[in-house]
Amino acid sequence: MPDFIRIALPNKGRLEQPATELLKQAGFRFERTPRSLAVPTRDAPIELLFVRAKDVAELVTDGVADLGVTGMDLTREDDSPVVTVSELGFGRCRLVAAVPDRSPITTIEEFEGLRIATSHPRTVARFFDNKDIDVTTVPLNGSVEVAPKLDIADAVADLVSSGSTMLINGLRPVATLLESQAILIERTGAVRTDTATRVITMIDAAMAAKNRRYVVMNAPKAAVGEIESIIPGIEAPTVVPLTHDDMVAIHSVVESSDVWHVLPRLKDAGASGILVLPVQQVIA
Ligand code: AMP
Repeated sequence: MPDFIRIALPNKGRLEQPATELLKQAGFRFERTPRSLAVPTRDAPIELLFVRAKDVAELVTDGVADLGVTGMDLTREDDSPVVTVSELGFGRCRLVAAVPDRSPITTIEEFEGLRIATSHPRTVARFFDNKDIDVTTVPLNGSVEVAPKLDIADAVADLVSSGSTMLINGLRPVATLLESQAILIERTGAVRTDTATRVITMIDAAMAAKNRRYVVMNAPKAAVGEIESIIPGIEAPTVVPLTHDDMVAIHSVVESSDVWHVLPRLKDAGASGILVLPVQQVIA
């Protein structure tokens, strides 16, 4: 009887859709309705718990969930006793300290004595404590960027991805306090079950696949050497004979970012009928 585990996932917000997509790409099949909290997966002894991103680490810490997907910034803010199993590459953002445009401040040292509005008060306090800079945090859950206009703060520390929201709100970034992305977490010291190990393998495989493409082509036998040097593949490319004597089919996996450069070189080397296909999972 396989062991049963629960995975806590964000039920809304920026991390929801990419987290759900990653699980689907990892091969888990489930039907989620907007209100469902606990969702069984179809083929594995796994239940998905959809909760607020902020609550994921607590459920993992309490042992209600065995694994969780959340933002690294949230686990730092709450000082959650969890470990990062994998960095997931989405939900990338930075916690940035900023001042109103008109402020003369240009360095972090000049924050001495300021009131800083932030959704991440503990992270901000820790950052300035470490630098021996005395600040007052003003904890806010939303609309952090309007705090200086309301005169409840002199500066802000907020999450940004592109930074355009800050600029629109008349704020000038001064320093990055923390870099974050979505992470897969488990409780510190947890004994990892077989099912959890398999889930981690599947998720890592799906992430590795995202950056890869499967390339298939026909080529004259004489061109195999040159083509192999262009696309070495994970190991070596697969070469399959075709009914036409002098021709072979070549299969290989390439980095998505290389496809653009590799295709014209393959054509020049004599390849034809080139297919570029998505990869579902890569288990090295
Ligand atoms: P939510 O408030 O539910 O949308 O989730 C917020 C989480 O999404 C944050 O804790 C971050 O980990 C992540 N995130 C990624 N980019 C951003 C951004 N530009 N602003 C806020 N949160 C972001």
